[in-house]
Amino acid sequence: MSSSRFQTWLELPADTGLGLANLPYGVFSTAGTAPRTGVAIGAQVLDLAAATGDPVHTTGSLNAFMARGPEGWSALRAQLTDWLTDPAARPVVEPHLVARDEVTLHLPVEVADYVDFYSSQHHAENLGRMFRPNSAALTPNWKHLPIGYHGRAGTVQVSGTPVVRPRGQRKAPTDDAPTFGPSQRLDIEAEVGFLVGVGSELGTAVPVSGFPDHVFGVCLVNDWSARDLQSWEYVPLGPFLGKSFLTSISPWVVPLAALEAARVDPPVREPEPLPYLRDDEDPWGLDLTLEVRLNGELLSSPPFRQMYWTPAQQLAHLTVNGASLRTGDLYASGTVSGPAPDQRGSLIELSWGGTEPIALADGSTRTFLEDGDVVTITATAPGPEGTRISFGEVTGRIEPARTRESERQ
Ligand code: MN
Repeated sequence: MSSSRFQTWLELPADTGLGLANLPYGVFSTAGTAPRTGVAIGAQVLDLAAATGDPVHTTGSLNAFMARGPEGWSALRAQLTDWLTDPAARPVVEPHLVARDEVTLHLPVEVADYVDFYSSQHHAENLGRMFRPNSAALTPNWKHLPIGYHGRAGTVQVSGTPVVRPRGQRKAPTDDAPTFGPSQRLDIEAEVGFLVGVGSELGTAVPVSGFPDHVFGVCLVNDWSARDLQSWEYVPLGPFLGKSFLTSISPWVVPLAALEAARVDPPVREPEPLPYLRDDEDPWGLDLTLEVRLNGELLSSPPFRQMYWTPAQQLAHLTVNGASLRTGDLYASGTVSGPAPDQRGSLIELSWGGTEPIALADGSTRTFLEDGDVVTITATAPGPEGTRISFGEVTGRIEPARTRESERQ
């Protein structure tokens, strides 16, 4: 390994997912200091504001840096690699390393627009079987376009933000009328998010091949979902209040450049998509493995490599009507579910609509989330030269619904 281009003067565990092959960006602060950009390396954070002296890293979000585009991204990545591999740079760089357990992590980007897709065939088929048992599992459009909806950018928050149980209208099919109250079917959706750095002009479309010119990096997403609110409100315009109360993202953004070794062929698409969605020449399947934990217990390991539509196809579809992109746009993959029961990325699938309670190690069972539950999603991908790329985690703890005083009995 001594000839590896990832050899560093830092002491890192051999199996770290936060080595030189990764170098994810985030926004951090220490006690009494302002939020600024940092890079995670092992158990430390390199303070980029101090190490580079570049004011782009003092803004408290990654947006201005992301807007620089691929040349700016690769120039800094090359600089970081030089610094961390060259022993002569050690005296200059080392003073700007901060212990990761001493920092507070912030929302890494100012989210511009937020779109959520629905691109796991296994997830879509599972939900189709549950909700439309007498029809085909997939809707007729599903294999022709990546289905998505516009979400609420202002409620995208960083990992660790409390998940206050949402309230709203819900009506089971057997109920005569809707009732109002805290969601009784609060769920997760384990997803992968893509952050746009370089915008596009209104009226133009970004081709599938434009993905690495526009997308800066990748994060983890938990698209918290109130299934009872969602099932009553979603016809005919799609998700609304059942999802907009909170979306959590991981604090570390893995640059696309760290994922070259994770690229894989996506599944065969049959029927062949329309020309603007074809990606045979340079497909962007990605071999991420997610892990979903409830109160520390592993519930499932969803495989991202089986996603039917890739993030490059999603971007092409998102802009094919001429809708422009802005720096800070976030689009998420949709719930990641594989074919096996222990690869499902939501509780509604794991408990099959609440009919098959999940047995936990402490003897309790779950269908949907209870107050106090903590859900954590992590992911790793293969890196170059046998290294491993970690995405860190996105976590959230469920808090009781906040009921107004006038409503208490
Ligand atoms: Mn979702």
